[in-house]
Amino acid sequence: MTVRRIESSLRLPFDDCGTAKVPGRRLIAMPGEFDAVLDTVRSFVEKEVQPLEAPFLAGGFESVRPRLDELRVGVKQMGLWVPHLPADAGGPGLSLVEFARVSEELGRTPLGHYAFNAQAPDVGNMELLLKHGDEVQRETWLRPLVDGTIRSCFSMTEPGRAGSNPAWLATTAVKDGVDYVINGDKWFTTAAQGAAFTIVMAVTNPESQDRYRKASMIVVPTGTSGFELVRNTSVMGERGDGWASHAEVAFNGCRVPITNRIGPEGAGFALAQERLGPGRVHHCMRWIGICERAIEIMSRHAIDRELAPGKPLASRQVVQHWIADSRAEVNASRLMVMDAAEKIEREGAHAARTEISTIKFFVADTLGRVLDRALQTLGGLGMTDYTPIAFWYRHERAARIYDGADEVHRDLVARAELAKYAR
Ligand SMILES: Cc1cc2nc3c(=O)[nH]c(=O)nc-3n(C[C@H](O)[C@H](O)[C@H](O)COP(=O)(O)OP(=O)(O)OC[C@H]3O[C@@H](n4cnc5c(N)ncnc54)[C@H](O)[C@@H]3O)c2cc1C
Repeated sequence: MTVRRIESSLRLPFDDCGTAKVPGRRLIAMPGEFDAVLDTVRSFVEKEVQPLEAPFLAGGFESVRPRLDELRVGVKQMGLWVPHLPADAGGPGLSLVEFARVSEELGRTPLGHYAFNAQAPDVGNMELLLKHGDEVQRETWLRPLVDGTIRSCFSMTEPGRAGSNPAWLATTAVKDGVDYVINGDKWFTTAAQGAAFTIVMAVTNPESQDRYRKASMIVVPTGTSGFELVRNTSVMGERGDGWASHAEVAFNGCRVPITNRIGPEGAGFALAQERLGPGRVHHCMRWIGICERAIEIMSRHAIDRELAPGKPLASRQVVQHWIADSRAEVNASRLMVMDAAEKIEREGAHAARTEISTIKFFVADTLGRVLDRALQTLGGLGMTDYTPIAFWYRHERAARIYDGADEVHRDLVARAELAKYAR
């Protein structure tokens, strides 16, 4: 990978332990130096975060949160806290391409992104508030998010309307004096349990002739009267808790000041698209991290597991081919994601929308195949929670649905391709 050198005078010093310690400064982008950053992240993830997998899988997110909070202190000292944010917002100032590589390393364990305060949905909300929040909104909600003292969530999808058509929402926000009064039901609000606020997509301009200009994004503190966390939904048998929860939430005459709206009225759809563009790169690189870990787990198991004395599983051609196919597909996926990330940086998310849609369904497919091969290689062990493979196999099936189902993205790519040849 070639990484652009941006501010050559800002070098990343390392302490004796090899950890970076310059919070808020631009990390150097020379390939060698950036590789050292990646090594630091990988080593931290492997030594400190991976040991939390077993207690997390057995006892849920809240059971490991105290230890994660301790690790977060260490990450801050490393200078890699909120690695997606620019230097003036408290991050290390990585480019999208660089953050994507960091995201891959964090993705090797289910809790990696959380340890670095780079977890969805907070990442998207931080980026949204940073770019489009006013000063008061940034101070009230962005600052504590960046500090890691609060969490947030994002409420767009509704049980009664197809989430694949985000311009068609039933939730309304009606002006009453200096307030909006919000009514409607949402579900799949990830991480709602314990979140300090949600950003809700609600129709504020039903009269607009442009269906993409009807909705706005509004911050709703979860303590607001009329906001209700109805229940956590079990997803693929997972009863997630805390950050790992997915909730049904209701807005019943929920009143918040108009000043809680992010950006102009009717800009909700445009902001959602902007939020999801780089977000899909983040997801794809997290999935590639999962694939790399899956290849490692399946390869180690194939070497260690003997089918008969002196006959390791790895001697079987079918297993070798699963490993080889996985390697080829993961390498291809990474190159595609890097290409999309570079285009976003160069030309913006809108110009890169075809590339973004292409990686979204392609990498989600790769992820599913690689996890399936890893699980098959492990046999019965693959069905247990003694490795993270079964968790990912359940949890990451959603990759083909959230942030746009496969079919929606394939439609967009096909339309772009066909348009090239239309008479
Ligand atoms: C684990 C998880 C976490 C999520 N987190 C959040 C969150 O934090 N906040 C939030 O707001 N939402 C979240 N979602 C919701 C997610 O974004 C929606 O599920 C997604 O947009 C699809 O919408 P839907 O479920 O209503 O499916 P529908 O829109 O009803 O679609 C159903 C199926 O129809 C097919 N389909 C749809 N459109 C087309 C088309 N044009 N052509 C052909 N086939 C099509 C697809 O196969 C699709 O799977 C989450 C979902 C999951 C599973």
